[in-house]
Amino acid sequence: MEDTIAAIATAYGEGGIGIVRVSGPKTFEILEQVFVPAGDGISNRKMTYGYIEDREKEQKIDEVLCVFMKAPHTYTREDVAEINCHGSMVALRKTLELVLRKGARLAEPGEFTKRAFLNGRLDLSQAEAVIDMIKAKTDKTFDVALEQLDGQLSQKVINIRQLLLDLLVNLTVNIDYPDEDIEELTYEDLEIQISQISDMVEKLLATADTGKIIREGLKVAIIGKPNVGKSSLMNELLRETRAIVTEIPGTTRDTIEEIISIRNIPIRLTDTAGIRETEDKIEKIGIEKSKKSFNEADLIIFVMDSSRDISDEDREIIQYIGGRRAIVLINKIDLGRTWKREDIEELLPNSSVLETSLLEKTGIEEIEEVILDMVYGGKVKQNESLMVTNVRHKDLLERAKSSLEDARNMTLGREALDFIEIDIKNAYESLGEIIGETVSDDIINEVFSRFCLGK
Ligand code: GDP
Ligand code: ZN
Repeated sequence: MEDTIAAIATAYGEGGIGIVRVSGPKTFEILEQVFVPAGDGISNRKMTYGYIEDREKEQKIDEVLCVFMKAPHTYTREDVAEINCHGSMVALRKTLELVLRKGARLAEPGEFTKRAFLNGRLDLSQAEAVIDMIKAKTDKTFDVALEQLDGQLSQKVINIRQLLLDLLVNLTVNIDYPDEDIEELTYEDLEIQISQISDMVEKLLATADTGKIIREGLKVAIIGKPNVGKSSLMNELLRETRAIVTEIPGTTRDTIEEIISIRNIPIRLTDTAGIRETEDKIEKIGIEKSKKSFNEADLIIFVMDSSRDISDEDREIIQYIGGRRAIVLINKIDLGRTWKREDIEELLPNSSVLETSLLEKTGIEEIEEVILDMVYGGKVKQNESLMVTNVRHKDLLERAKSSLEDARNMTLGREALDFIEIDIKNAYESLGEIIGETVSDDIINEVFSRFCLGK
């Protein structure tokens, strides 16, 4: 990390201000060449007013506020400068170009945070929290990521690893010096300790399903034959819960995805165009997309019309849903009922059946309740913010859990301590990967490639 990197750190487009960020050993030297302070000059951690100037061309580039921060108490633990330009892409681009010409290199996405990690300011799970915070769409998503950045998850992992390390030391001593005057590790003790550690891993894993939804959003597909109220439902949920992102445009027959927030849970909502067989080519494309969002959905909302008999088309959809998790909306109850909810409950045993009138706006609260119940699943408290949200972390916890299970089984089978030691060590290493202690360069690169430029 000998070189100095630079990038535009703020979002593209017009804004009040925009920031060019520089980090590395040549930061101060570069700053002196491009920045002309109006007053006394550049001092550590002081916002200084002045101009960015291209001295060779004797050209003023922008009027700025500039701050220089000396290592190691900085984001990257290197010397850092932040040049606050006017929020114009022209000013930012020109300032960046000048900084690059004076010896900086354009930063890769996530490279500032990667340096923070490599220099030991953040562990890997904390660095991953940074990207989650940037991408968070709801308060809850943000809070959970903030907790992770704060090191709450890391601390849990570190504690479990410490217990594993103690156990490993104990095992090694017992393996290497069985005849010495040391405290003997009995299989009974070993079994108890492994079980206790295993429980801690499982407690973390229990939060992972909810955590994933909080980080990535719950994918919900709305399905139903034409004219039952799918669009009305979509509009009602959007109106009630405030769309976070406006609709992603597609063709007329395309599926439309909206991201909304139901009590701070991000919900990715798709109105499927119908999944019937058709010969029409254009319609076929729409249907393929609908099928895809239907197949990928975490939850299906099946809308039916209570005033009309259950049709073949309804039955087709019911078959299609099969045993998957669904909410069935018996809509238009203001028009009366031609059949009973029990009929549906029998056909779709894994569903929650609700009655609504989207016209009279009744039953909508209940939809939100059911979704919330599904997200928290009775396992995670709604105010809990220490959660495993990242699939990478979940996989590693699962690996650790399975190593511990193997170790426990071998302990119960009274197998040689050497074998048990190997599994304990594997669990220790899997957990180490979460925080980046025992992780390959490939994984590190993969993690940071998901960042945006300038972070
Ligand atoms: P979609 O084809 O499934 O998307 O259905 P729409 O949402 O476009 O609704 C079709 C028609 O049914 C519209 O005229 C709606 O106003 C009407 N509608 C939707 N929900 C209700 C309801 O609960 N009661 C009544 N009476 N009409 C409704
Ligand atoms: Zn519609």
